[in-house]
Amino acid sequence: MLTNRQLFLQHLAQTSDSPAMLEIESASGIYLFDASGKKYADLISGIGVSNIGHCHPNVISAIEKQINKYMHLMVYGEYVQLPQVQFAKLITDHLPATLDCVYFTNSGTEATEGAIKLAKKLTGRQEIISFRNSYHGSTQGALSVLGNEDLRNSFRPLIPGNRLLNFNAETELDQITSDAAAVILEPVQAEAGVIPADMDFLQKIRTRCNETGAIMILDECQTAFGRTGSLFCFEQYKIIPDILLLAKSLGGGMPLGAFISSNERMSSLTKNPALGHITTFGGHPVCCAAGKAALQVLLGGNLIAEAVIKSKLFKSLLQHERIKKFNSAGLMMSLEFDDEAICKKAVNACIQSGIIIDWFLFAPHCMRVAPPLIITEAEIKHCCSVILQSLDTV
Ligand code: PMP
Repeated sequence: MLTNRQLFLQHLAQTSDSPAMLEIESASGIYLFDASGKKYADLISGIGVSNIGHCHPNVISAIEKQINKYMHLMVYGEYVQLPQVQFAKLITDHLPATLDCVYFTNSGTEATEGAIKLAKKLTGRQEIISFRNSYHGSTQGALSVLGNEDLRNSFRPLIPGNRLLNFNAETELDQITSDAAAVILEPVQAEAGVIPADMDFLQKIRTRCNETGAIMILDECQTAFGRTGSLFCFEQYKIIPDILLLAKSLGGGMPLGAFISSNERMSSLTKNPALGHITTFGGHPVCCAAGKAALQVLLGGNLIAEAVIKSKLFKSLLQHERIKKFNSAGLMMSLEFDDEAICKKAVNACIQSGIIIDWFLFAPHCMRVAPPLIITEAEIKHCCSVILQSLDTV
């Protein structure tokens, strides 16, 4: 009889030739438990998802309540579904007035697609400006604005008329002209190895968009929900985007994305043509119920404020000759090494020792450390000692 691992390789489409292959049976808080009962601390939050930990009891209870009422009823946008309405109200209560209207999607990449379409519709323009080393999703439109040639080249032709600029290069911002429908960027480039936008850079993009009429799309799929020390990262930059993208942690562990703008802007998707962007499952009621419960947990405690304190503790403990640089934006952290081989060996050693970490899509020489925000001081100390020991072995 084939093992589960063999079945996984045979019957599930693979994304690389080196999957992590952990066989997890249950998850709780920051921990995952495998089939043999071994416990792993998840220091990457399932790649930016489990900000309040795995299987939070409030999220489970919200899901249970909702599945006992209804699951899918109708495609997005037709029926008044309370979980969607209440979650959109809660999110927009914590956003500026010009971000008062939520379009729920299934994923981050679909939020990117919707935002690009909205920007084109609003401006009547075609050019989308994005940045090298950015990641906005894997579907064709998102791929067309993604800043990495290796990932794009095999899938040409891409959507034409896009322009890639260098991140944090203020001198290039005059290339944002009145030809641009939108400028899309992350406030912290996650997959580049945690590279925060410079304050001036982000503010100048805002100004340039105001001057040219380009729509500013800010992708907070990884940076929102307390990860960087504020509910949304853009708050720290004292700017307001025209369209905000959310996903990952938005659904509290369930699949959910969103693009958010003003009610007035969003209304352009309702005419010429009507149904300009539609989705069957976007804003699934169970995902919205889970997301609302997760956001309430986040808002009800000190997790957001503590993210920066915990990040400082990581930084102070993670001192090792192998670590060349520590990049961080709150609990989104990256340890830079001389090369990819050191990083991969250290990652493997950590996983063997029960700490799940990873590297970054566009920075394989950097170690990703982005634990659930609920991680405690004692857990941070333990995890850091395991990381340091792993570095001694490489
Ligand atoms: N934007 C950013 C910044 C992301 O990190 C990701 C996912 N890594 C996405 C968009 C795409 O999200 P999804 O995988 O849900 O499509």
